[in-house]
Amino acid sequence: MSDRVKYELSEKDIPTTWWNPAADVASVAPILDPKSGREVGFDELTRSMPEALVRQELSTDREFEIPDEVREIYRQWRPTPLFRARRLEKALDTPAHIYYKYEGVAPTGSFKPNTAVPQAYYNKLAGKRGLIVETGAGQWGCAVAFAGALFGLDVQVFMVRVSYQQKPYRRALMETFGAECIPSPSTRTAAGRSILAENPDHPGSLGAAKSEALQMAYADPTLGYARGSALNHVCAHQSVIGQEAIQQMELAGEHPDVVIGCSGGGSNLAGLAFPFLRQARSGGPAVRLLAAEPAACPTLTRGRIAYDYADTMGLTPLFRMHTLGHKFVPPPVHAGGLRAHNIAPLISRAVEDGQMEAIALRQVECFEAGMLFTRTEGILPAPESTHAIRAAIDEALAAKAEGRGRTILFGLSGHGNFDLAAYDAYLAGTLADDSLDDEAVARGLASIPEPIAV
Ligand SMILES: *Cc1c(COP(=O)(O)O)cnc(C)c1O
Repeated sequence: MSDRVKYELSEKDIPTTWWNPAADVASVAPILDPKSGREVGFDELTRSMPEALVRQELSTDREFEIPDEVREIYRQWRPTPLFRARRLEKALDTPAHIYYKYEGVAPTGSFKPNTAVPQAYYNKLAGKRGLIVETGAGQWGCAVAFAGALFGLDVQVFMVRVSYQQKPYRRALMETFGAECIPSPSTRTAAGRSILAENPDHPGSLGAAKSEALQMAYADPTLGYARGSALNHVCAHQSVIGQEAIQQMELAGEHPDVVIGCSGGGSNLAGLAFPFLRQARSGGPAVRLLAAEPAACPTLTRGRIAYDYADTMGLTPLFRMHTLGHKFVPPPVHAGGLRAHNIAPLISRAVEDGQMEAIALRQVECFEAGMLFTRTEGILPAPESTHAIRAAIDEALAAKAEGRGRTILFGLSGHGNFDLAAYDAYLAGTLADDSLDDEAVARGLASIPEPIAV
């Protein structure tokens, strides 16, 4: 085995296709219209999505070709490096081998441009003037602001209010790219006004911001609405992460026993993990997959599998997935990108089918893991990514306790250079541990609509 730390590929190794997990990894239930209970078809989805993306969303083809224009842009940061965390292994004194795939080298610091760029490309082709999106911690907003700037699209971003306040530099970055950033809930939309009427101190949530963005996009056909996570086509775009990681683990001469990702909407985890599952299913070595979610927003571990809306006001159709209820408002933890009441139907199905495990982790234990990672590996992880790090460290410690080796691969979904206020709070000892009371969960679950057909 080599003693390398960094496994790099060359440009020719950038994938030429996106792998579609809906082809083989998990089949998802149809999307339903909440009024008629009927399946939502192609035409209806084109109301807020270019046809090319709707085709991908509904497809069960194994692969989609990556357009040359998109692959050309990918070349700026792909292939991303894969590292072996030798110094972290040493600090843990573990026989486990720990690898991580680092997506923080992308222009805006996370994996999100992998899908923001193709979504901007297809919207531009479809003749849209601009894009409108919601964002949690601001990573998606920044990625779309970047992609919009490349394709000459106007970008408006509704940013969850608590994150807008916690992370002012994300707003500044979006504005630097030429986008407009609005804290949500806002008074600009009927959705925002009605949410504020119910609760004037609403901290905002991804679901609420999504309602605002969707309402604006539906009202103006020259605007496209781009999805940051959860949908099938987004999970497919993110497969570039796992496809590269497969090649890099081969370079390292190892195969992961377990693949770990943090899970908010589920796309970065899907992108890293599902290609390994595809490999296992076609005769490759077995692999465990593990979703690490925040205890403050425990969609997979405490949610229910049901048809629910993807936004607070119920403007989207119904998706069958794990959900905490579309009115669930998670406590304001720093991992803003993981505060989603719902999860990708593909991830949900993989968990339901026993193809993937899920654990919920608390904010402080994740920051502790992030601190150790920073001090050993030298990269400051995004608060979201610290969930994957915590889970990887726990796997490595379990291997140590059992006295045997284990090969661990986790996704380092982004860097935390814009999240220093959270680290500052941790260092000052004022970072609160998240508390989620049963009542808040019960209130959220109660907002799941009555089943119409499952
Ligand atoms: C958005 C984001 C996440 C959450 O991603 P999902 O794919 O929706 O689970 C995780 N980490 C970082 C750094 C992010 O920006």
